[in-house]
Amino acid sequence: NDPHAMGKDKSPQAVLEHVFGYQQFRGLQKQAIDTVMQGQDVLLLMPTGGGKSLCYQIPSLCRAGMGLVISPLIALMDDQVAALRQLGINAGALHSELDARETATIRRDLMNGSLDLLYISPERLLSDEMWRLLQKVQISLIAIDEAHCVSVWGHEFRPEYRLMTNLPSIFPSVPRIALTATADPTTKEDILTALAMKEAKVFQASFHRENLFIRSLPKQGETKQLLTILDKYQNDACIIYCGSRNKAERVAAMLVERGFVALAYHAGLSSLEKRGVLLRFRSGEPLIIVATIAFGMGIDRPDVRLVVHLDMPKGPEHYYQQIGRAGRDGDPAETVLLYGGEDIVKARYWVQQSTSTEEQKKIARSRLDMMVAFAETTHCRTQILLRCFGEELSHPCGHCDNCKYPVSLFNGTIAAQKVLSAVYRTGQRFGALHIINVLKGKKNNNIEHFQHDRLSLFGIGKDKTNQFWRAVIRQLMAKDALRQGIEHSNLFLNQEKALPLLKGEEQLYLREDIAQAEIEKTSSNQ
Ligand code: ADP
Ligand code: ZN
Repeated sequence: NDPHAMGKDKSPQAVLEHVFGYQQFRGLQKQAIDTVMQGQDVLLLMPTGGGKSLCYQIPSLCRAGMGLVISPLIALMDDQVAALRQLGINAGALHSELDARETATIRRDLMNGSLDLLYISPERLLSDEMWRLLQKVQISLIAIDEAHCVSVWGHEFRPEYRLMTNLPSIFPSVPRIALTATADPTTKEDILTALAMKEAKVFQASFHRENLFIRSLPKQGETKQLLTILDKYQNDACIIYCGSRNKAERVAAMLVERGFVALAYHAGLSSLEKRGVLLRFRSGEPLIIVATIAFGMGIDRPDVRLVVHLDMPKGPEHYYQQIGRAGRDGDPAETVLLYGGEDIVKARYWVQQSTSTEEQKKIARSRLDMMVAFAETTHCRTQILLRCFGEELSHPCGHCDNCKYPVSLFNGTIAAQKVLSAVYRTGQRFGALHIINVLKGKKNNNIEHFQHDRLSLFGIGKDKTNQFWRAVIRQLMAKDALRQGIEHSNLFLNQEKALPLLKGEEQLYLREDIAQAEIEKTSSNQ
């Protein structure tokens, strides 16, 4: 009796070919779609760009009734709706930024049953009026996009998502599909519980990206390192992520001054400016986007060859998503994380200072620690990263720096003890440079003023370079044995972690390449 529903007897394969113009399903798409088609609930975990959208769009078009898609991202909703309309699908979105006329049209189509797919923000869905309206409509399936938003542990918790628990009682026998690109085991469990989807079939795609060469380097002159990295990519699209708007502006200006085509992108731009940057990015011209975390949604340029991080990402999910924007076309692409001890200390400090609850701070700290471990590791980086998403890679990847150029370690405990003692004996009031001067036995006004040249440890580190001592300090910061005051940049000990090292109860291993760099430096100095 519903003319629209009656037309819907097409097979997923036919819709894939005739509506979307693709020949074959990719990866887990077919299995996920078949399961939803049978009326079962699904949780689909797939990296960004994996092709999650088709997994709810196709069953919506094949099953009788309208597909309901819950999504928290307005910009993304509008993009999807526009793309679907181009394919001749009657899709609409209901969210707070829509004008009255558009809303009225969508309502009309919703009521007369001609809407194929309705995208809706959780706030809108939760209004009483919307509930009543939707109960009069035949619904083919409910898709819950960005399902990790339901989890407190997830990095983008949205309280409204918690109310989705009620969906099965209000729409019994409508299959649900929850989708996310976050796959750590805690978030996964949270989603299944919070959405009352314990019976759902879980499909988890591998997060392994074999065409990404993953590198991480300690900062030793950030600008110079960045320019060296960019050298190979003069004719490509690159993204450089920065921790703040200011820095994004600064780095972009620096690059422009050196003749690069570079544009800053961050939340401080007007929407017109943002659109301008996105337009140029999508145009296919070679260029560098210097961005904050705000650059992300709806980025679909396949030929990004390089992603650089100049600041430590908040956690592995952000990091993975951001490096995942490189090499979408499957061709080789490179990612480089530049990190410094001070950045890590600062990031920890901001977590501490934030107004979040203790529980949230704990989560944020543990995420940051995962990133630090990733940055400092001498093992396969891909293995470490995938483990954050609950995936075990049985063999080293072969496409990260540590796999390609294995590093060996040496015992740096004595060096660590020298640093920690120097920090302690000078009263924990001085920054890294002063501590290094004490270790190297380098006199200057400050040293003489504070009589630090009289300390017994003055000059005990003469035989090593400044760079070596910086590396030791950085690693001590990464281990949280050394902390740094935000206002005066003074180093001080975190007793809990520092004492075991000082007492020799714990050993600190350093990368051989740092020692190597030191040897090269000393020999070239002679
Ligand atoms: P996700 O939501 O997982 O980030 P999308 O659904 O946006 O990914 O899909 C990423 C890209 O892959 C889109 O451009 C989409 O058209 C394309 N795509 C998805 N499935 C297929 C397929 N079976 N064949 C070819 N291209 C596909
Ligand atoms: Zn590896």
